[in-house]
Amino acid sequence: MKIRRIDVLVIGAGASGLTSAIKLAEMGYEVSVVERENTLGGILNQCIHSGFGLHYFNEELTGPEFADRLIGLLPDALYLAPNATVDRLIDDENGLGALVFSPESGITRYSSRAIVLAMGCRERNRGNIHIPGSRPSGVYTAGLAQRLVNIEGYIPGKDVVIVGSGDIGLIMARRMSWVGAKVHCVVEIQPYPSGLTRNIVQCLNDFNIPLHLSHVVTKINGNDRVQSVEISPVSREKERGPGSFTVECDTLLLSVGLVPENELTRKFGIAMNHETSGPKVDSRLMTSKPGVFACGNVLHVHDLVDYACEEAERCAKGVDEFLRGVAPETGGPVVSGANVRYVVPGAYNPGSDNRFYLRPMIVKNKSRLSVRAGEVEIYGKNLPHVQPSEMVEATLSKDALKACSGQTLEVRIE
Ligand SMILES: Cc1cc2nc3c(=O)[nH]c(=O)nc-3n(C[C@H](O)[C@H](O)[C@H](O)COP(=O)(O)OP(=O)(O)OC[C@H]3O[C@@H](n4cnc5c(N)ncnc54)[C@H](O)[C@@H]3O)c2cc1C
Repeated sequence: MKIRRIDVLVIGAGASGLTSAIKLAEMGYEVSVVERENTLGGILNQCIHSGFGLHYFNEELTGPEFADRLIGLLPDALYLAPNATVDRLIDDENGLGALVFSPESGITRYSSRAIVLAMGCRERNRGNIHIPGSRPSGVYTAGLAQRLVNIEGYIPGKDVVIVGSGDIGLIMARRMSWVGAKVHCVVEIQPYPSGLTRNIVQCLNDFNIPLHLSHVVTKINGNDRVQSVEISPVSREKERGPGSFTVECDTLLLSVGLVPENELTRKFGIAMNHETSGPKVDSRLMTSKPGVFACGNVLHVHDLVDYACEEAERCAKGVDEFLRGVAPETGGPVVSGANVRYVVPGAYNPGSDNRFYLRPMIVKNKSRLSVRAGEVEIYGKNLPHVQPSEMVEATLSKDALKACSGQTLEVRIE
């Protein structure tokens, strides 16, 4: 078996993997990026709509344009291995590393001083939400349908119902309309839309596509191909009654959430965060396994690529400190309080300013983000509007963190 020795192995060449690799190579480390697809850019390549890069490049770009910008920043010295899949992480007599399979070069053992996990996320599917009925063809996850239309050049169906009003579902409602399909409706279990308001307006309202809030698909009918779906209000999920209706369609697209791609992480015995489904990380984004770091959607699902890139830069900084033997000052844990689903990272370093990303659990206008050490608020900011689909950012100053070092911080939305 071939062995490749490097300083840092980055797994995944999406926005976060590429950004961390660029920063680490700029710092002078020998870096390899392993990517299972034969193109670089990850999920960005299939997101041909605009809306990327407003913060990171101060410009509105499409997904492929954003990827192209990052690829343009890759230094020549960086070793790229496309079409190569990391099968497992290893820690043995050769040190930390990974086993990589590739059709071109067979099996290679990478041996590195640090690893950056940047494997992105995957979509929840029909099995995850238990829709009853038959099992005909024509049921796709929205991201797969997006890939079929935007990259492979296929139109997955003509009469479409979409489950889930998250951004991918909304964007696919517009995309399917543009390619000539009839999008009958979007069905959302929550009493409020899950996606960004701009996407509700631009992807549904502009195309007169109805959005049924507090509704679920209760049955899929069809033998070879989907023929219709039954839709009911949430309150009548069990007995079809008033408010239930049937829509004839040949395609059902599911946009029912994303989860971090955590197989490698879990198999390696890294401690997991049950609130994010990604690994637990400390203030420099290092997992419970020394030398293994994580950033981007594999850590927690981001709604903006700009945040994924910012986090990847911080991750590269954490790797650099680890490789130079600089230990972070340990302040204490950071935990989610009222109305906060999760906060990342779950620890703070009082030796520097710290940035946190958190996800609200509520929809509310005029709310307040409050970070407390005991009963003392050490950071607060007013938020005009919060909703679960919009991640919130908070940057706490070194001075504020120094003053409460040793205590647990609780993050609340009130
Ligand atoms: C449909 C959709 C629409 C979006 N729209 C917007 C938008 O309008 N604006 C915006 O700012 N953001 C948007 N986002 C969010 C943003 O694009 C993502 O958060 C960001 O691109 C994620 O980057 P990543 O590197 O973490 O993951 P990914 O891009 O998913 O990259 C992960 C990479 O890891 C590779 N990989 C996984 N496992 C392995 C393995 N075992 N071995 C080797 N390689 C592996 C994968 O092939 C993939 O290339 C959207 C996301 C989606 C899904």
